[in-house]
Amino acid sequence: MTVLTRRRSENDQHETWHIYFADVRIGTIGIRAGAPISADQWGWSLGFYPGMEPSTQRSGSAPTFDQARAAFERAWQQVEPTLREDDFEVWRRDRDFHAWKCRMQAEGCRMPTQNSNGWSRCFCGEPIPIACEVHIYTVHRGIGA
Ligand SMILES: [Zn+2]
Repeated sequence: MTVLTRRRSENDQHETWHIYFADVRIGTIGIRAGAPISADQWGWSLGFYPGMEPSTQRSGSAPTFDQARAAFERAWQQVEPTLREDDFEVWRRDRDFHAWKCRMQAEGCRMPTQNSNGWSRCFCGEPIPIACEVHIYTVHRGIGA
């Protein structure tokens, strides 16, 4: 069984934790911004996109971090059996595509769609066509991790 892990977000305003199942960010637990003092101070949301339909995502609130984490874990125990490896892979590919595209822009590389012949050169030096997904998902797998 894969254990859930968490990483603190870079948001300094409100304490927020990103929750990971292996390398897939499946949700968050964080302080609810602007919640009245009489209300639950912690919120959680479970779901990732693409890969999970928005209607299957879950969320809730709790008075403490530990209670929010327990509620999140209970929800995950219900949701995880409904997911397939392909669902996680869709999310990983989307993550890697966006990270690759940002790197292309940062390195000043043109996208194949920006050239009239439909070809360009990846920042790694490889010539790439418009349909360059295979290149991204093999050569640069995990670039966004
Ligand atoms: Zn490349």
